[in-house]
Amino acid sequence: MRGFAARATVEQAISWLNSVLPSFAELPTEMVGLFDAATRVLAQDVVSGVNVPGFARSMMDGYGVRADDTQGATAYNRLPLRIIGTCLPGTPFPGRVSAGEAVRIMTGAPLPDGADAVLPVEQTEPDGDQVSVLDPVTVGKHVGQIGEDIRQGDVVRSTGSVLRPQDLGVLSSIGVDRATVVRRPRVRILITGNELLPAGTKPEGYRIADANGPMLSALVTRDGGEPIVPGIVPDDPVQLREALLEPADVVLVSGGSSVGQEDHAPRLVAELGELAIHGIAMRPSSPTGLGRIGGKLVFLLPGNPVSCLCAYDFFAGRAIRALGGRLRDWPYPRIRVRLTRKLVSTVGRVDYARVQLRDEGVEPIAISGASILSSTTRADGFVIVPADSEGYPAGADVDVFLYG
Ligand code: AMP
Ligand code: MG
Repeated sequence: MRGFAARATVEQAISWLNSVLPSFAELPTEMVGLFDAATRVLAQDVVSGVNVPGFARSMMDGYGVRADDTQGATAYNRLPLRIIGTCLPGTPFPGRVSAGEAVRIMTGAPLPDGADAVLPVEQTEPDGDQVSVLDPVTVGKHVGQIGEDIRQGDVVRSTGSVLRPQDLGVLSSIGVDRATVVRRPRVRILITGNELLPAGTKPEGYRIADANGPMLSALVTRDGGEPIVPGIVPDDPVQLREALLEPADVVLVSGGSSVGQEDHAPRLVAELGELAIHGIAMRPSSPTGLGRIGGKLVFLLPGNPVSCLCAYDFFAGRAIRALGGRLRDWPYPRIRVRLTRKLVSTVGRVDYARVQLRDEGVEPIAISGASILSSTTRADGFVIVPADSEGYPAGADVDVFLYG
């Protein structure tokens, strides 16, 4: 065993990542059906082949009329119109509206020929097979014009957009039933540790359940990746080597990332490819490694669950989002809040401090060592203390990143 000779700064690690990311080939595209397309990244502009609406339609329940016939109407000067039929959504009126006539019309129904406005039912009163106009309308009133929502040829969503629920509604409304999207980066999650039992197993004796597998899998999914979770890999160099060589776009190794005698991953990555960064001036997560094996980016994440989460957030998540065509920045909302107690940090390393929101502000979580996973569950978010800072006094305003 040998300790870390020197630690890279967080900036150095991120700039190495930024420098290699462009050399990773753009992921291929794939087609997905509308019902599977939410949260995917568009790889092609979506251009409308149709006008929406494709016909002049009524925006109100009322009567299709000629606006001219309603001019001068008031409650004291009611103008009668003869009702000659009805038109419903999907069922147009077959005839034509002439002077002195009206057609009953419902919202979404096509405006009949001859009519040029919709007279809302509130501006009328029934009168046998006639209707009395109490209030006039102008030409085009309450009529949705052809293409007023979307014009044929409009780009409704452009390359690189993340598809939101409302985007799927728009795609559907222009008759598009699938989208060309960026393939999800495939992220192989290698959980190492002889002490580990499969996720969700009751801890027994000296063995503990894998906390990082389900956590990383959820983080990868959040960041648009496709997690591949082959099960626990023992602390055995032969088996770990094989697992590292399996196909993927990104490999996350949980545990065994440091300089202990069971920590094989750093040496194997250096042997099979490049271990560009090993040991980072940050807390938690200092035994983090970044490298590549052929066309795969490899992240060595410490086994301590808090360190694992923090190292994922600082480096791996950023890369997975970038590969999948997403924004690299953290997906956490940021708020500015007053510290209720001081937050102490050591100069020379970046601190990832978990905090809780209180009525009076935000409070650092007292017991917050890297092995205390519940510190992240109790936390509402975290504060980053930069390397050149000794922390913040009580009362200082700090940026808090809120966990989703
Ligand atoms: P390591 O990074 O392998 O040295 O592990 C550091 C600490 O984290 C040890 O106490 C491990 O037992 C623990 N640990 C490692 N992997 C996991 C995991 N997947 N889930 C929960 N704890 C873990
Ligand atoms: Mg271990």
